[in-house]
Parts: sequence; C-alpha cells; structure tokens
Amino acid sequence: MHHYQDTYKHKGLRNLLAQQLKSKGIQDELVLKAIGEIPRHFFLPADFEAHAYEDKPFPIGEGQTISQPYTVAYQSQLLELKPGQKVLEVGTGSGYQASVLLACNVEVYSIERHAALSEKAVKTLQKAFSPAQLEKLHLSVGDGTQGWPEYAPYDRIIVTAGAPSVPKALISQLVNGGILVIPVGKDEVQKMVRIVKINEKDIKTEVFADFSFVPLVGKNGWKES
Ligand code: SAM
Repeated sequence: MHHYQDTYKHKGLRNLLAQQLKSKGIQDELVLKAIGEIPRHFFLPADFEAHAYEDKPFPIGEGQTISQPYTVAYQSQLLELKPGQKVLEVGTGSGYQASVLLACNVEVYSIERHAALSEKAVKTLQKAFSPAQLEKLHLSVGDGTQGWPEYAPYDRIIVTAGAPSVPKALISQLVNGGILVIPVGKDEVQKMVRIVKINEKDIKTEVFADFSFVPLVGKNGWKES
C-alpha cells in the first residue's frame, strides 16, 4: 500500500535535492522551485519511497522508468518555460515530469503509449494536485511520435524517451518561435537536442549533453520489437 503523505521530512529532502541540482548546474529558478514542491515519492512504487529524493531513476512498471531528477530539471530548463504556455509532453510515464511542468504554471498535454502507466499516473496526480490545478493537465493514451494534433500548436514540446531521429510531426505542431527538447541517438546513449522552430521553413538545432533514456516507440520512432 502506498501512503500518500507529504511530511516535513519529505519537504526537507526535496529542498536538499533542489540544492543538489543547483550545484550540478541547474539555474532556472522556476524549475528548482517546482522540484522543491512536487512530492516525488508519490510517483514511485512504495518500495522505493526511502530513495525518492536521491538523484536517480527508478522502475515504474511496463519496463519503463521515472527519469532522474537532474534529467527532468535539465530538460525543463532547456524548454525556457514562461507561465501560461501550452506544453506537450511525449511519455507521461509516472506523471512526475508533467507535475514539474504544471508547477511551472504552464498548461500541460501529456501522452503515453502504455495505458496502464497513464491510468496509474492519473491516480497519482489526483493525490498530488487539487481539482482546480488538474484542469491545466490533459492526459492521453497513444503514439506521441505523431504528436497530439487535436490541441496543436504548442509553445513547447518535451520528449522523455530516446528517439532515433526527430519526428517531423512534432516540429509541425510547434508555434513559430516554439521549442522542442528531445533526446536523439541510435545507441544506448542519446544527445539532448533542442530545436527552435523559427518559421514554417527554418529551424535552429542545438546539441547538448549525453543522456540514456528508454526508447521512443512508435510510427516516427523505434519500431516495436
Ligand atoms: N516523463 C516520465 C516521468 O516523469 O515519469 C518518464 C518517462 S520514461 C523515461 C519514458 C516514457 O515514454 C515511458 O513511459 C514510455 O512508455 C513512453 N513512450 C515511449 N514511446 C512513446 C510514444 N511513442 N508515445 C508516448 N509515450 C511513449
């Protein structure tokens, strides 16, 4: 049984985590504040609760993981979020990254291919946020390599699984001036890539550090094995 209690001990541990991420180079205060607010222990299997505020990934079922807090903070920082923006996340997983985005005061659309994970995320999110806050969070089950056309365009898109290449559908669902952050690579290790859509024809691509994600599986990603 999971006990959804948020104690002063948990709060203290995640303030330490936010400080640790700051010392590792995360500077965006909006992101650090969000990490300090979200009860990450809600998003992990109960067995891992004691480790929830360590800077580590953990298994969440279906062969998937909740990303390491540093990775969540790194991707969130690259998004250069402004309150009120509309953000698409591909790979809801546990719902933790979506929660960090929500705590940055943006409207979140998040899509997950495993129905079981999405259903679990809904339950966790209901423990972590009020109904009013959850009005800004929209979840769906499906193939996020095709984006979520119904609500496009988005100001920001974040992909939390490793892609073999950048899906064009995602760029097409960004506003002009919008930003896509996505780990890309053909091996176990991917490069974090940030794409700014300048206009319908031009993009700017920047390449950042190495990360290791579970694969992005779908029509415009890795094929299911
Ligand atoms: N953001 C998640 C979190 O905070 O817990 C971490 C997610 S995990 C590293 C990546 C997730 O992407 C997995 O749950 C996986 O099932 C999902 N995924 C992989 N390919 C996908 C696709 N084409 N569409 C949607 N989700 C996908």
